[in-house]
Amino acid sequence: MDASNFSRRDFLKLAGSFSLSLPFTRGSRLIQVPGGPNIFIIVFDAWSGHHLSALGYERNTTPRLNERLEKALVYHNHYSAGNSTTPGTASLLTGTYPWTHRAFAHDAPAEPLISHNLFNQVGSGYFSQVYSHNAVADIILRAFRADEDLYVPRQQLFLTNDWISTLFNNDYDIASTAVEVIFKNNVNTNSLFLRDLYTRMFERSRQRIIDKYRREFPKNPPEVSGFPYLLETGIDWLVENTPNQPHPFLSYFHFLPPHAPYQHTRAEFQGVFSGEVSEIPQKPEHVFSQGQSAGSMTTDRNAYDNYILYVDAEFDRLISGLEATGALENTWVILTSDHGEMFERGIIGHSAPAMFAPLLHVPLFIFGPGITQREDITSNTSSLDLLPTLLQLAGQPVPEWAEGEVLPWFRKTAPNPERSIYAVNAKHNDKFKPITHASISMLKGSYRLSAYLGYPELDGETRYELYNLEIDPDERRDIFAARKKIADMMVDELNAKLEAVNQPYLG
Ligand SMILES: [Zn+2]
Repeated sequence: MDASNFSRRDFLKLAGSFSLSLPFTRGSRLIQVPGGPNIFIIVFDAWSGHHLSALGYERNTTPRLNERLEKALVYHNHYSAGNSTTPGTASLLTGTYPWTHRAFAHDAPAEPLISHNLFNQVGSGYFSQVYSHNAVADIILRAFRADEDLYVPRQQLFLTNDWISTLFNNDYDIASTAVEVIFKNNVNTNSLFLRDLYTRMFERSRQRIIDKYRREFPKNPPEVSGFPYLLETGIDWLVENTPNQPHPFLSYFHFLPPHAPYQHTRAEFQGVFSGEVSEIPQKPEHVFSQGQSAGSMTTDRNAYDNYILYVDAEFDRLISGLEATGALENTWVILTSDHGEMFERGIIGHSAPAMFAPLLHVPLFIFGPGITQREDITSNTSSLDLLPTLLQLAGQPVPEWAEGEVLPWFRKTAPNPERSIYAVNAKHNDKFKPITHASISMLKGSYRLSAYLGYPELDGETRYELYNLEIDPDERRDIFAARKKIADMMVDELNAKLEAVNQPYLG
C-alpha cells in the first residue's frame, strides 16, 4: 500500500489502532486561556548542539548567546527524533515519533493524525503564526494550515520577493510553487518561451541582488534553491510585526542557517575559524561513509562554524529588538533545531543513513518570565517533550497520544533515568508499511544504540553499534560486542518497541 491508494478503510483501521477518541478536526478544542503566555519557537536548521560553545564546544561559536544564557534554562542533552528536516520538524510539532506521525521524507504526517499538532492543541485562544525558509519544513506547516492563523509564505522573506510578487500579483501560493517548478526543477512547462523568459528574469534579478550585497556577503548571501535571502529579513520581520500580533501568540519560525551551503556567512565572520579542531581528531570511516576526505570535512566544518557566528549575531539582534518593544513580556522563547550535522567518518551534513550524536544532539535553550538565572539541565530530553511542555504552559491538557514528557524544570517529578529516547530515519521505508528499512537511535542513560535495518548495502542484515556517551562522548569505541548484557537488553527493548509501533501496519 502506498500513499496514493491509502483508502478510507485503511484510514479507519489506523484511527482505531491509535485509539483516537477525538474527531480529526479543529473542533476538538479544549480549554481556552485568553491570558496565557506567548510562545515563541525559533528553529535554526541543522544547528548541532555539538558545535555550540554554549554547550561546551571548544570554539567560541556563540559569544552573544553565552551572555543571554545567564538568564535561561540550558538543556545539555537534548535530542531530535530525526536526523533530517522532515522527521525532526514533524516530531517537534506533533510530539510523536516518526514511526507514529509517518512523515519520513519530504512529506507531511499521515492524514488521519493531522490534527495531532501543537497549533491545533494549543487552542483557538492562541494566535498562531508560522514560517519556514526550508521547503521541506514548509510542507509540514502547510499540512497544518487549518490550525494556523497566519502562514507567512516562504517567498515573502526572500530577497527575490519583490519581483516574484510583481510577477505573480502577490499570490504567494502560486508563486512559491510555480517559481520553483519553472526555474528549479526544469519541468517542461506549456510554453518554453515563457520558461526561458522567466529564467532570464530570474537570473538577472538574482545577480542584481548578489551584487548589491557583495560587501556584506563576499561569498554571496545565503541561498535556497537558487533564491538569495538574508537571515536579517526574517529577524526584522519578527521585530517589526510581533508587537502588533494578537496575544497570546504561538509563533514558529524555522530559519535555514546554518544549513548547507555553509560559505554564506556575513563578512565579519568569514575565516574566523580555520584549521583543525584540536579535540576532535580523525575518526575511522563509517560503513555509510560518503567518501569525504579529511580536508573536505575540515573545510566544511570551519565554514559551518563561521556560519553559526551569523546565527548567533542575528538571534541576539532578535532578542534585543523584541526586548526594546516590550514584546517579550509574558513570553516564553524556545530556541532549538530540527536536527544536527556531522563532519566526520567520511560524512558531511545529514543526508547519510548514519546515526551519530552530532546529528541528533540539538540545542534547547528556554527564556521566559521569572527565569533570572542560568539553570543547567543534564538529563536526557527529546524534541517530543516540547509539545507537552508548551501545552502545560498554555494551560491545556496534554493529549494521551503525546509520546514525550513535560521537560524537567517544568514538572515536579524527577526524570526517569531508565527512559529511552529514540530517533528514526525511515526515508526509504514505505509510509504505510511496518518499519523494516530504517536507521534508529535509542538513547538510554549514557548508552546510545544505533540500529540499521534492512539496508541493501548491509545485505539486509541488521547492524548494531553501541556507545557509552559518558566515557566516550566522541563515539570512538563501538562496545556492542564487548558489553553484551547491556546490548542485548537494549536490542530486546528496541525490538519490542518496533513490534508495537508496527502493529497498525501489519496485514
Ligand atoms: Zn533541517
